[in-house]
Amino acid sequence: MSNAPPNDATDPSKPAAKPAGNFLRSLIERELQDGVYAQRLWGGSPGDAAHHAAGAADPAPVRLRFPPEPNGYLHIGHAKSICLNFGLARDFGGVCHLRFDDTNPEKEEQEYVDAIVEMVQWLGWTWQAHYNEGHTSHLYYASNYFDFMYRAAEHLVERGLAYVDEQTPEQMRATRGDFSTPGTDSPWRGRTPAANLARFREMRDGAHADGSMVLRAKVDMASPNINLRDPALYRIKRAHHHNTGDRWCIYPMYAYAHPIEDALENITHSICTLEFEDQRPWYDWLLARLGESATLPDGRMVGGLVNQPAPKQHEFGRLNLSYLVTSKRKLKALVDEGHVDGWDDPRMPTLAGMRRRGYTPAAVRKFAEDTGASKTNVWIDYSVLEGTLRADLEGQAPRAMAVIDPLPLKLTNWDALFGAGHTEPCSAPAHPQRPDLGQRSFGLGPLVWVERDDFAELPAKGFFRLYPPRTDAAGATTPGNKVRLKYGMVVECSGCEKDADGRVTAVLASVLPDTKSGTPGADAVKVKGTITWVGAQDAVAATFHLYDRLFTEAQPDAGDRDFRSVLNPHSKTVVRGFVEPALAGLKADQHFQFERHGYFVTDRVDHRAEAPVFNRITGLKDSWAK
Ligand code: ATP
Ligand code: MG
Repeated sequence: MSNAPPNDATDPSKPAAKPAGNFLRSLIERELQDGVYAQRLWGGSPGDAAHHAAGAADPAPVRLRFPPEPNGYLHIGHAKSICLNFGLARDFGGVCHLRFDDTNPEKEEQEYVDAIVEMVQWLGWTWQAHYNEGHTSHLYYASNYFDFMYRAAEHLVERGLAYVDEQTPEQMRATRGDFSTPGTDSPWRGRTPAANLARFREMRDGAHADGSMVLRAKVDMASPNINLRDPALYRIKRAHHHNTGDRWCIYPMYAYAHPIEDALENITHSICTLEFEDQRPWYDWLLARLGESATLPDGRMVGGLVNQPAPKQHEFGRLNLSYLVTSKRKLKALVDEGHVDGWDDPRMPTLAGMRRRGYTPAAVRKFAEDTGASKTNVWIDYSVLEGTLRADLEGQAPRAMAVIDPLPLKLTNWDALFGAGHTEPCSAPAHPQRPDLGQRSFGLGPLVWVERDDFAELPAKGFFRLYPPRTDAAGATTPGNKVRLKYGMVVECSGCEKDADGRVTAVLASVLPDTKSGTPGADAVKVKGTITWVGAQDAVAATFHLYDRLFTEAQPDAGDRDFRSVLNPHSKTVVRGFVEPALAGLKADQHFQFERHGYFVTDRVDHRAEAPVFNRITGLKDSWAK
């Protein structure tokens, strides 16, 4: 039995036939019509203004980027950003760069770089462009731009647009002011460009202690936008960097580095989340200064350092999912403190976790597309994500029967009816709407595994599955119930066996002759209940990981609540049961719909062909609604 090819409406290799509209798409359409980016030159790789000026017209009408910091695993929020950026690039015939924003030396690791590359590819996107420039990989590292960033900083210093501030961090905070109070100038703000340059070079050369001074832009300490009150550009930090080693003891600040990275890569649309909205004036200020020609105080003329037109920043609303946290810092805490079994734990909203849980790339892409791009942060119910996955799996996941809480059912008249040792062959379609997936075969014999909750000694009203005959106080008798073993025969319950503690250990029933599914007259006996089962003689023993929501609250980190305090202690249950024989010898990552139970996938880590392990992805219906 094999999984069918995905029925994919969001193929990353083809432009979306009818893309969902959003403000970014409309904006790009307008800009392309107006030829806003038509004159851009591209030097074939990232570089400064001179590098691009020596190049040819950019073959990519738009360039976007996905710029993760390699300090954790990607999560569903990142998938949103990935699909948005790569999707817009695809739809407009442009490219999307994968750029590691690795300017912060302390928290970044190769493990994360590798995991990010793997998950962007898993989602189906590519950073390879196929233009006349040949196949070009657009995978970049911001740390490769450190030399330029330093040069640009000296340029700002020479123009009197940046200065070394030797105030303590506390003094700097105090003089920055707040929303209602303007900031006040640092006593170091008036130093000459020459003195600042000398000081900045000392910083670079390791002459000063970590944290003793910073390079700041000279913008406007009274600006109503606090981001323009002389933001820090460089700090001193003696730290080993995964790419540049010990070469630098000063590192650029994110707000300084990011616009430069975009400009060097000739990005047209720098899409980020809403919390950066107040940074936009600074983004524009910096790139305008670095793009313009200028006369230095000593009279020298210099041309612009970065290509024109400058990239533009656009903000969209962050995606939040109920019952999850999507912050790398918090996810890292869950891993480090052992609340989950690792970054790829199937309960995690990381892409690695979701893949292991059984999410398909197509479902994640569809979810990203369906949730659009808007100007406000959105909270989406977790059930929406599950619904998208169900819709994707419904048409492709083969059906099978599994018993996850097994109770033996003994067919007491089997040998008398069919002879000892007889097994009745049964079959069922692998998928009700997909004859191409073929049939599955299994046997029915005298001992069958059924679900424990398909038997009730004293049935509640409306319970139509297995229950034994009984006589009430008034002497009225109710016969044992008749149910159909799906694709098999009808059985009539006659009783049960119990252990010393009164716990039911087996159900007893007799088979009704001539009731086998698919044979003439099989429906002559009417039953109200049909149950799933696995024949003991050919059952495959299996382990099931049953997952529930990781948190008990819809917004685990709302307000100042510690998200650890609302972890669901029952988010993972491991049980043992059986699956039908067609599921012997499976590979990892195979999806199934277990009839009545929901969707499952063979676990990509723990599963073995000879010892199958299934993760429950989701139930058949939305069980989240209260
Ligand atoms: P986190 O807060 O989880 O650390 P981040 O924004 O710091 O996330 P980065 O690696 O810096 O993580 O982000 C890479 C890109 O992914 C950024 O452009 C960021 O805006 C985007 N992104 C991160 N989380 C979300 C989200 N929940 N919804 C939409 N985009 C997101
Ligand atoms: Mg970040």
